[in-house]
Amino acid sequence: MRKPVIAGNWKMYKLIGDAVATVTALKPLVSNANHCEVVVAPPYTTIKSVADRLEGSNIKVAAQNVSTETKQGAHTGEICGDMLKDAGASHVIIGHSERRLMYCDTDEVVNRKIRAALGFNLTPIVCVGETLEERDAGREEEVVAAQLARSLADLTAQDLARIIAAYEPVWAIGAGRTATPEQAQRMHAFIRHWILQRFDRSTAEGLRILYGGSVKPENISDLMREADIDGALVGGASLDAESFAKIVNYDR
Ligand code: PEP
Repeated sequence: MRKPVIAGNWKMYKLIGDAVATVTALKPLVSNANHCEVVVAPPYTTIKSVADRLEGSNIKVAAQNVSTETKQGAHTGEICGDMLKDAGASHVIIGHSERRLMYCDTDEVVNRKIRAALGFNLTPIVCVGETLEERDAGREEEVVAAQLARSLADLTAQDLARIIAAYEPVWAIGAGRTATPEQAQRMHAFIRHWILQRFDRSTAEGLRILYGGSVKPENISDLMREADIDGALVGGASLDAESFAKIVNYDR
């Protein structure tokens, strides 16, 4: 049985006070959510305050990015994995489409970041997904397969057991337009089958694949009914504690 993960990506929103107030409100709303793992990914500057506030709770903290570097050094502006752990993060989002499209996170960079994160015992949440143009051209599976092949290059089945995947069609992110449960399920099944072919059955069956793209309290339950959807990576609707809590506490 794969335990679902509901993760909130706060992107570049919230100052420290707001971040702490949000998790303070969230904590009691999800304290009985034993059916899933709950993760919030605040901006770097708020990780420590948020993690301190969440200590002893069932909510884990993710960073939204990590350096490719495996040790501290002269890399101005970068944050490496041990700094994230030190601040209280246990997970890290890697390869989000906003980073791929705006900050040159190529598949090769994503691969290095995954390795660096694993080296620091952080759980990578690895994002893949096609653009609207690629979907309209019927190339979505080809694009996602290529992202998987390069992003997961030379990783072992043991590595894969420590990773969470997220399918986030770029056209559904922040768009108010979500993939239908059927569209998402089709791609999730494709990803699982790809993992089965590259690795083995238990790796494929154990991998949690989250869906991301305009997930809201109104659509989470239908998405979660699909066999290969193991949770959600939520952007906009995770900024508000009540709305995120409704997603965490979806109808089961
Ligand atoms: C995201 O940021 O990963 C995301 C899916 O955003 P939204 O839920 O706002 O579409």
